[in-house]
Amino acid sequence: MRLRNITGSREVIAESPYVVQEARQPLCPGTWKEIFENSHPLYIEIGMGKGKFIHTMAKTYPGINFVGIEKYSSVLLRAVQKMEQEELPNLKFLRMDAENITSVFGCGEVDRIYLNFSDPWPKDRHARRRLPSREFLARYEQILKKGGRLEFKTDNRALFDFAVEELGPAGWQAQVVTYDLHRDPELMRENVMTEYEEKFSAMGNPICKYVITKCGA
Ligand code: SAM
Repeated sequence: MRLRNITGSREVIAESPYVVQEARQPLCPGTWKEIFENSHPLYIEIGMGKGKFIHTMAKTYPGINFVGIEKYSSVLLRAVQKMEQEELPNLKFLRMDAENITSVFGCGEVDRIYLNFSDPWPKDRHARRRLPSREFLARYEQILKKGGRLEFKTDNRALFDFAVEELGPAGWQAQVVTYDLHRDPELMRENVMTEYEEKFSAMGNPICKYVITKCGA
């Protein structure tokens, strides 16, 4: 995502009721039930960008709690502005680097993780920064509950091939792998397009997707 620093975005984020402020609230296991004031399942999107996907998901599934995670205030600001226009009680945001994800979600607290059009970090020496890398998979394994799902979509074939290769060493197995999601009517039935998905599929790029389920304890 091309970043433009928006003056004042940090301050808006720090004051927003839609953004869970880590500094003010110690996020220990169980805190999310208190934040949402219910025990509904918890789905998160890591690297949500401007929040189009997660906002649509939260609107479509009011019985599920959603948390959108984004590293940059200038980007998160757009998701916050969308919430100001259309407030949803089952959607919250976190501004943070997903490297620290295990400090905000407890063991087995998350039912589903979405990675959508994650930054490719094409240089080998940056591989561990890629959100579907084995380093991140180990973090997801901690916070996902048994039977929980991880779904990853991208149009970047090199990143997708890397992501599929990372599953074995990390001890995961994919249930679904497609290299052309938009030509799969079954998978498309419940597909919600992300901002990047709309942009890249309109350019004719095939969209790759995998779905994996946590089997162990
Ligand atoms: N998911 C959106 C979509 O599909 O339209 C946005 C995709 S954009 C290419 C990737 C987003 O992930 C950017 O907004 C970036 O700031 C965010 N991001 C990248 N690495 C991150 C990290 N380690 N923690 C949190 N957000 C991250």
